[in-house]
Amino acid sequence: MTTDVKPLWINGESVLTDECLTTVSPAHDTPVASYTLAGPSEVDIAIAAARKAFDEGPWPYVKGRDKAIILNRVAALIDENAKLLARLETLESGKPISQAMGEMKAASYLWQYAATLAHNVHGDTYNNLGKNKLGLVLREPAGVVGMITPWNFPLLIISQKLPFALAAGCTVVAKPSELTPGTTLRLAELAAEAGVPSGVINVVTGYGNPVGSHLAAHADLDAISFTGSTVVGRTIAARAGHNLKKVSLELGGKNPHVVFADADLDAALDAVVFGVYFNMGECCNSGSRLLVEARIARDFTERVIEKARTIVTGDPLDEATKVGAIINQAQLEKITAHIQEGQEAGARLRLGGNVLPTACGRFVEPTVFENVAPDMALAREEIFGPVLSILPFNTRDEAIDLANDTCYGLSAGVWTQDVDTAFEFSRHVRAGTIWINCFMDGYAELPFGGYRDSGLGRELGRFSVDEFTELKTVQLHLGVRANSWL
Ligand code: NAD
Repeated sequence: MTTDVKPLWINGESVLTDECLTTVSPAHDTPVASYTLAGPSEVDIAIAAARKAFDEGPWPYVKGRDKAIILNRVAALIDENAKLLARLETLESGKPISQAMGEMKAASYLWQYAATLAHNVHGDTYNNLGKNKLGLVLREPAGVVGMITPWNFPLLIISQKLPFALAAGCTVVAKPSELTPGTTLRLAELAAEAGVPSGVINVVTGYGNPVGSHLAAHADLDAISFTGSTVVGRTIAARAGHNLKKVSLELGGKNPHVVFADADLDAALDAVVFGVYFNMGECCNSGSRLLVEARIARDFTERVIEKARTIVTGDPLDEATKVGAIINQAQLEKITAHIQEGQEAGARLRLGGNVLPTACGRFVEPTVFENVAPDMALAREEIFGPVLSILPFNTRDEAIDLANDTCYGLSAGVWTQDVDTAFEFSRHVRAGTIWINCFMDGYAELPFGGYRDSGLGRELGRFSVDEFTELKTVQLHLGVRANSWL
């Protein structure tokens, strides 16, 4: 695209350093853009700017109505710029362009929804504490929030955090993934154009180490909101724990997608294929473990293979493409190692398993394994690639046990026409989201997050703003104080 070096965004101004990093298109092996490389001192400057914007205002004190107007303007600007943003997202991440366009719409919807919450940030009152007492519970913005985000849905994931923190009255330092910083930087510019004051949103581009780690450990930060791998999430929580800041973590998953024999099998089939191959399987919600009732397992597996075989894999700039490029060489090697190990462990490779022999980029064929045992890595580890593992089950209880048989708990899908089965499953599977007869639908109104190793806290929904606030109790004595202590 361009070889100009894009600056950091700090205090409403462009900031350069002597070093830069260049993103490369995973599908085309060509440079996409160069970005200024931040280090710990730029993180310090960005946090100081956010601190000043918070401590001196005006953002924390801007009326909810006026915040909402600005957030809605950002949504409109995302819509106006959707094509350019989507193209940048596709070039940096390798995801299909049609999907990237869908994500831009979803991101603008999040800003619109957060605008409605900006009107509604409020606390509570207690008028039942006795004749002379009144209790007020004030909901205050948490302060300066650090946000660290991954490469798989760059604009969407920052939009699951940023507008909600702004609605609460916080100020922010964001660190996007070094692989996909483009749309987050552009978002900060659009937010400034929409009227977000200088210093309220700051973006530093750089590597997890030292930029992300310095940000997460910073004493002047009040909260940290992280989306990424469970391994890094643990280090973020440990560092943030050291100086006791609020932490929310959106981490990995190994999500079960469960099909009972009584389900609408045509609909389930489409959802299963979408659920695992969407975004090349580089998706925290990927339905990478298909659990099928044993009496339909053979037929259903054949239908999955037949359908997966027709998926168009290749250049993500082509509108027809459904599976694009794998983000980088390290991720490709992780996926191929899992495919190799799965075969060695005794699982049966039924489809794909190869890297496509393209002139440029790196693409993995949609892959299906059957005869996967619950203790195999294929059934337990997050592969983050287009690899489906199929396991049979006989009873509802067995399906629930298998669904829970992982360290994760992000999401789960169940296909059945039996209301008892649907609700038994929903109540007993330990995951933050359960989809019944649908998969991976997302709504700004509904909370999202994980149990166990999939994370801490929730994003989206009306409670999301609470994650970016503190409660303060104010007690008021009315009239003359009757009783003395001494
Ligand atoms: P990652 O953990 O490697 O990186 C995420 C971010 O953390 C990047 O910005 C990276 O630069 C930064 N980082 C890396 N090391 C760091 C450190 N030591 N200290 C601070 N920051 C550091 O994850 P990824 O490879 O970018 O993304 C894939 C992972 O993200 C998968 O595990 C996926 O499941 C998860 N994910 C979860 C959700 C969710 O909502 N639950 C959504 C998307 C992705």
